[in-house]
Amino acid sequence: MNPSTPPSKSDSVARCGAAVLTIDLAAVVANWRTLRAQVAPAVCAAVVKADAYGLGALQVAPALARAGCTTFFVALLDEGVALRPYLPGAEIIALLGALPGCEAEHTHHRIVPVLNSLGDIGRWQAYARTTGQRQPAWIHLDTGMNRLGLGADDARRLAAEPERLAGLTLRGWISHLACADQPDHPLSAAQLGRFHQALARLPAGLRSLAGSSGLWRSRAFHLDLVRPGAALYGLNPTPETTNPMHPVITLYSRILQVRTVDTGATVGYGAACVVARPSRIATIAVGYADGALRSLANRGHVFIDRQPASVVGRVSMDLMTIDVTDLPQALVQPGGWVELIGPNRNVDAAAADAGTIGYEILTGLSRRHHRVWLSPATGDQWTS
Ligand SMILES: *Cc1c(COP(=O)(O)O)cnc(C)c1O
Repeated sequence: MNPSTPPSKSDSVARCGAAVLTIDLAAVVANWRTLRAQVAPAVCAAVVKADAYGLGALQVAPALARAGCTTFFVALLDEGVALRPYLPGAEIIALLGALPGCEAEHTHHRIVPVLNSLGDIGRWQAYARTTGQRQPAWIHLDTGMNRLGLGADDARRLAAEPERLAGLTLRGWISHLACADQPDHPLSAAQLGRFHQALARLPAGLRSLAGSSGLWRSRAFHLDLVRPGAALYGLNPTPETTNPMHPVITLYSRILQVRTVDTGATVGYGAACVVARPSRIATIAVGYADGALRSLANRGHVFIDRQPASVVGRVSMDLMTIDVTDLPQALVQPGGWVELIGPNRNVDAAAADAGTIGYEILTGLSRRHHRVWLSPATGDQWTS
């Protein structure tokens, strides 16, 4: 396999998979360019952890690299190792840092760890000493998430004991905003203030605070480098207003059967839906094993040719049932397509239906779908 091309290719969407997921790489690239323009002259990196939020890191990251993106964040070492052959010249940074015993793997594949504690820094320094070479690192300062990173006391200690950084090539400092999706949340400004305060006592490096939402809040959050993920994949980084990003995915499935049921009939497991009128019920080929969450039971919506239909009864592993009583019969036939995510129903709306967020919908998309990546440069379709 040529490492500069994605794993498999076929010419046609028309395979026999029941559910088809399309991923528009041109839209991902357009979104990255929008974000880059928004933050220039700050650097716009790309967060491609969790297989690029479920959309295929091996397809997404090279497309962004060709568009000029040079810095990629993953969560885990293994995610970076998988990407390295496709991104020979890029900086790849692992947000979760180097696990004890895995340091040499980082060096071998040039995956720069984010050091999240004084302990991490000590271990990375000891490792650098054994290699006889300076080792690159980013350092995470916690400014209010209380999740990962050096707290204020540890940051002060690091500033007072600069020898802790001897032997490291300090690439930069990150911190992470807890409430950036809420405009004007006071914690965002407080976190920015704490970040500046800590950095004033520490050695110089690139400074990075904002992800998808933070970068839309104020230029003050841009600093030297931003780390968007969700916005690249079409989720709305500014939920209080219109989405500035292009949609990236569509998910369609097929109608398998349409049946007529009488008042009082029940649909599906647990008889969780009792039909209140003579109804037509369509069974579609998508279930929780495909990422259609069980929380959609009796409350989700799908679209058939721009017309909404409600999910009735529980979602099962491979199947879902929808009420199509009010749709023209000609529209609802076995083999017909049903839109789960698409022009009538974006990921954020589908997530709201399921009582979750778009991030969970994207990362929960199953490998069982027939996947089609629309390529930005050539219009090629990469499929798996
Ligand atoms: C996941 C993550 C991001 C990206 O967040 P989005 O909201 O998807 O843009 C940025 N920084 C860190 C530390 C993260 O864990």
